[in-house]
Amino acid sequence: FGFKGCRKIGGSQIRNLLNAKDFFLFDCDGVIWHGEKAITGAPKVVSSLIKHGKNVFFVTNNCTRPRENYVNKFYRLGFTDVMQEQIFSSSYCSALYLRDVAKVQGKVFVIGGEGVRNELLQAGIPFDGDDDAPDGTIFNCALASDVKAVLVGHDDKFTFLKLAKASCYLRDPECLFLATDVDPWHPLQDGRILPGSGCLTAALEVATGRKALVIGKPSPFMFECISSQFRVDPAQCLMVGDRLETDMLFGANCGLDTMLTLTGISQMKTAQEYRDSDHSTNQSFVPDYVVDTIADFLPAFED
Ligand code: PLP
Ligand code: CA
Repeated sequence: FGFKGCRKIGGSQIRNLLNAKDFFLFDCDGVIWHGEKAITGAPKVVSSLIKHGKNVFFVTNNCTRPRENYVNKFYRLGFTDVMQEQIFSSSYCSALYLRDVAKVQGKVFVIGGEGVRNELLQAGIPFDGDDDAPDGTIFNCALASDVKAVLVGHDDKFTFLKLAKASCYLRDPECLFLATDVDPWHPLQDGRILPGSGCLTAALEVATGRKALVIGKPSPFMFECISSQFRVDPAQCLMVGDRLETDMLFGANCGLDTMLTLTGISQMKTAQEYRDSDHSTNQSFVPDYVVDTIADFLPAFED
């Protein structure tokens, strides 16, 4: 007790771990890139893993782009061998959930941007949520009668009217309440932050007294999406992330070994505090392994 996890590894320990695992799941922001800049060495790590026959997947809570747009971003940032099939985003998986699990019959009311809309379109799911007449209010706007689900994700055009309409749809207990992810905020340059999807979901939860079903990390659903498309053995997987409360918990929820990389949000000290705390639930935030950066993998591919 108090000694498990947070194992800082390097050199031959990394080499042994990479040899032991067949599936590598990478969070994106903070692990693979910062916004529009690749983490130094990350493109080489990804292509080396692929060259060595490893299966590489990307699991991102960022719902703002459709998958084909991620392929372009990977390419632009120097990741030249990443394919759409390897990318699991919270918007893509939300569309899969609505189509294949909930089998929703009717329209989805969307709070979210291009990524969410495009994935719904590709999944053949009808949706609503385009802004009404700009002077519309909840007193005079039209409400559709066939909305069977509300999907909330990051939306930089979020308005009070969208919140109000979604709240009305959710008064029907049969109307599904889904969130792409509930990330609280994201770091930007210069100490600024971007409020995340979790803020918008929280507003709707307060207005309705309901709890959203979460698709993104830490919910295990994105791993279920991967397993439904590929033959994956959890024991052969390593989940690499930068946020303890989403990525490490996701790994724990899916039965995967976890690695924290220190290029992003969470620091070693917080991980150790979780490890040493008396609350057993905190253990799920504790990474099995810690590295400074995934570039520390590179020596393992030499000779
Ligand atoms: N959602 C939004 C809107 C973001 O901007 C980001 C990070 O930039 C994320 C989610 C988190 O993405 P990831 O899960 O790849 O860290
Ligand atoms: Ca991240």
